[in-house]
Amino acid sequence: MEGAVSSCIFCQIARSATSTTLLHKDDRVVAFQDINPSAFRHYLVIPIEHIPTVKDLQQRSKDFSLVSHMLNVGQNLVQRDAPHAKRYRFGFHQPPLNSVNHLHLHCFALPFIPRWKRVKYSSLGPFGGFIEADKLLERIKPLYPL
Ligand SMILES: [Zn+2]
Ligand SMILES: [Zn+2]
Repeated sequence: MEGAVSSCIFCQIARSATSTTLLHKDDRVVAFQDINPSAFRHYLVIPIEHIPTVKDLQQRSKDFSLVSHMLNVGQNLVQRDAPHAKRYRFGFHQPPLNSVNHLHLHCFALPFIPRWKRVKYSSLGPFGGFIEADKLLERIKPLYPL
């Protein structure tokens, strides 16, 4: 695990150990531009803590509040930087389709550029694929109020 964390590119970004420009940083998350943007604006919000994938999130208040916070940060950033976008989208890749094994929220101000890129971010129903942040929040919503 130690080795996995130290070689994780997103852990390095979270610790400001790279030249990546951070758009946001607080005690729980950082945000930055996707290295290979697929839309007019395409940002990633990641937890500072190394959480590999959505499969490692559980139905508990700690995880629910983290994902809610990630979504809030992402919404603020894309709305600030693309106030006239027709649509925004927020979501996660589910394994095995995720590229980096460090949880990251994709935040888009649409349209996708080029348009075919949207295929990468579509739900594959029961097979997984891309999950909208709202759906994930429903899934990990704690049974008892926060
Ligand atoms: Zn990591
Ligand atoms: Zn991804």
